[in-house]
Amino acid sequence: MTLLKVRGLGKAFGGVKAVDGIDFDLAAGELLALIGPNGAGKSTTFNMVNGQLRADRGSVQLDGHELVGRKPREIWALGVGRTFQIAETFASMSVLENVQMALISHAGRLFSFWTRARNFQRERALNLLGQVGMAEQADRPCRELAYSDVKRVELAIALANEPRLLLMDEPTAGMAPRERNDLMALTRRLVIERRIAVLFTEHSMDVVFAHADRMIVLARGRLIAQGKPAVVREDPQVQQVYFGTGATFAPHVPEALARVAE
Ligand code: ADP
Ligand code: MG
Repeated sequence: MTLLKVRGLGKAFGGVKAVDGIDFDLAAGELLALIGPNGAGKSTTFNMVNGQLRADRGSVQLDGHELVGRKPREIWALGVGRTFQIAETFASMSVLENVQMALISHAGRLFSFWTRARNFQRERALNLLGQVGMAEQADRPCRELAYSDVKRVELAIALANEPRLLLMDEPTAGMAPRERNDLMALTRRLVIERRIAVLFTEHSMDVVFAHADRMIVLARGRLIAQGKPAVVREDPQVQQVYFGTGATFAPHVPEALARVAE
């Protein structure tokens, strides 16, 4: 079932066409990778889907609801979640408290006393932490965690809102290859178990191959290829953008393709 339908989506900043009329679909239970060199328009695409940026043109439909023109909060309420970095102010709170906060926010409840909040949704929070393999570290302050464990907690926080579509902008940035694979394998499992759709950006081609069902490739705001990773990798235009690729698919953009901002 198609959950997200993007048609003719575009956004310019001054003279720069950051996203230049792209079309793609995303189904429930599907993990879709969005790749492209720096400046290709990946974040702009994300932010038009989640409402942080308003599209100049085109349409983004979630299960038939038009998202363009809605506020981020409304889009969030319709079931579009995203992973956020745990803010410094929350780093002193425990892993469990961070997930409880997210559940409280999802339930739309306000507590005047933190002592009451402390027990609120405790079981559900522990359950979510169990799903991301962090239940044993529930009582540790977030700031003591290893980087890859923080990413797991951020995933649990995003899941607290029960998204139908989860957006992850560079979820594995700064991680070692092994940790990247672990995080994406976990995401893959959650996608299947919960039938959520995930759209994520990624630099490592290994990760895309191992975990994505499908991928779309942006270059200078245009969608130049989409399909199964093994097929897209062979696309001559993709190979041209990802010059000298191989396993990492690192975004070494040829000079001629680098965006000129003016
Ligand atoms: P990516 O995430 O693929 O690296 P972005 O979507 O961040 O790419 O950027 C696409 C293009 O739009 C780039 O040329 C970038 O400089 C430009 N751009 C992005 N956001 C803004 C902004 N807020 N103001 C002006 N230009 C922007
Ligand atoms: Mg970006």
